[in-house]
Amino acid sequence: MKGFLKIVKYLIPYKGEALLSILFVFLSAVFSLFSLTMVAPFLKVLFGETDLVTEPVKFQLNTESIITNFNYVLSQIIINKGKIYALIFVGAAVIVGTLFRNLFAYLSKYFLVPVRTGIVRDLRNQIYKKTLILPLGYFTEERKGDLMARMAQDVQEIEASVVRSLEMIFRDPIMIIIFLIGLFVMSYKLTLFVLILLPVSGFFIGRIGKSLRSTSLEGQRKLGLIMSVFEETIGGLRIIKAFNAENKMQTRFESTNKLYTRLVQKIFFRQQLASPLSEFLGIVVMVIVLWYGGIMVLGENSSLSASVLITYLVVFSQLINPVKSVTTAYYNILKGLASADRIDYILQAEISVKEIANPVELKEFKHSILYKNVSFRYEKEFVLKDANLVIEKGKTIALVGRSGSGKSTFVDLIPRFIDATEGEVLIDGINVRKFRLHDLRKLLGIVSQQSILFNDTFFNNIAFGTTDITEEQVITAAKVANAHEFIIETANGYYTNIGEGGGKLSGGQRQRISIARAVLKNPPILILDEATSALDTESELLVQEAIINLMKNRTSIVIAHRLSTIKHSDLIVVIDDGKIVEVGNHDELIKIKGGTYKNLHHLQMY
Ligand code: ADP
Ligand code: MG
Repeated sequence: MKGFLKIVKYLIPYKGEALLSILFVFLSAVFSLFSLTMVAPFLKVLFGETDLVTEPVKFQLNTESIITNFNYVLSQIIINKGKIYALIFVGAAVIVGTLFRNLFAYLSKYFLVPVRTGIVRDLRNQIYKKTLILPLGYFTEERKGDLMARMAQDVQEIEASVVRSLEMIFRDPIMIIIFLIGLFVMSYKLTLFVLILLPVSGFFIGRIGKSLRSTSLEGQRKLGLIMSVFEETIGGLRIIKAFNAENKMQTRFESTNKLYTRLVQKIFFRQQLASPLSEFLGIVVMVIVLWYGGIMVLGENSSLSASVLITYLVVFSQLINPVKSVTTAYYNILKGLASADRIDYILQAEISVKEIANPVELKEFKHSILYKNVSFRYEKEFVLKDANLVIEKGKTIALVGRSGSGKSTFVDLIPRFIDATEGEVLIDGINVRKFRLHDLRKLLGIVSQQSILFNDTFFNNIAFGTTDITEEQVITAAKVANAHEFIIETANGYYTNIGEGGGKLSGGQRQRISIARAVLKNPPILILDEATSALDTESELLVQEAIINLMKNRTSIVIAHRLSTIKHSDLIVVIDDGKIVEVGNHDELIKIKGGTYKNLHHLQMY
């Protein structure tokens, strides 16, 4: 039931179309019943059983009046033109009825198309939107693969199962009700008997798919695992080859794949059983009805005429398919709901970095950034412990320390990629949590170790995130970043596509594009997280020069591996194991006996 509500939730934006679709299903069912019941007059004419009606009755919208009037028209034809014409008339009625039935069936499907496609589109948009607002810490490597699987597989699964079943959900119950009404009119006694039979057979079919949902959920989870192994492999292909680890990776992948396949097999076994079993049960039920109806026809007071029983059976046989597909739809939906659950899991994921209701206005950076007793942990262990630091406007601060000591974590607190677990980070005396995220991040320029570029032109990569930018501004920024020279040498200059992730560029070139982007944004505060660490010495020089240009007249926080690049900073902060252990300028720190900075410096010099 909860699952059903979930589907209803998806449907809400499309209630108009959904209602139209239901309306046409209804009409289609009525005409379908009409065509089928034409068997009765046809047989009656054939067997000469027709009760001739000589007087029409007042036309009303009830079965009595409709049947009597129909019989009147038919009687007139038989009397005036003969039985052959009557048969033609009945045939024509069947054709017209079937025409309308199919026309309405088409219309009902037609209005369902925007619903089906819309639901899937909405889901994709929602996942994407959520991905953009989730905090950075959410995306660990394993989660990435899983997220990709959800975006691709689970949405597909919902399309395949839930959305396809929508048609059945709308159509079949209505068909069943209309047909049952028809059956009641023909023989209520026989129909009451049928109504007892149907749930019994439904129960048997129902047993098969009970655990389908949980198996399905597990299957999708395993698929996420496969995707993440695959993605990891593509990313690490160079290392895998270099270490001759192909066989090992293959074995690892195959075992994951095997587990998944086994699960899928289990799901299929159950699914395949549903159809033959329900077909068999359908025939059994049919034979029982035939037998019971036969008794009624042959019985002493013959409560049913043979032609009505035949018509009854024809209509009843048409009832079996919708009943069957309702059960199929039901299981499909259960299967799809497993995917819906997985998607919901992301959509409901907590956004730990929230904006407050009435944010403080933040237009400019005036005097300082302050870390006050800041501690932070991703999981159990604190990776930043009781950090205190003032960063004054216009100064260049350097963070040094071993890898994993918590430098990136430290700077990530300023743009609120993460929020302090304890303590606070303040800009101009106000907690960063009190600002609008957009305002806060507008003040910040960030260049990190991996330059993040998009599969687009140089122009758009540099102008990324800004609006109304002229080519001149982009060129100026590129020049400051030492990028202009190599850009104009490419085929289309600034309008050359740089390939996925900037794959067609060298590391130094990519980094200079990132720097040009920061130059163009012109933020008062700059965060450089190992911006030159991944580069060779030659491109480092060019990038270094670009960075010096970029840092002019700004407040900068620089994380660097090579101490030579930060020697001249106003303040050097040494972080070790999440704690600030030394603070001072180069000359001061180098004098501390046995100091961490002195050691690091010593190591790098010799
Ligand atoms: P640095 O930048 O100094 O190399 P980081 O700030 O990136 O170090 O990491 C500090 C510590 O936090 C490391 O021990 C790292 O394993 C851990 N860490 C970093 N990111 C995450 C994350 N998303 N989830 C859990 N732990 C993390
Ligand atoms: Mg780091």
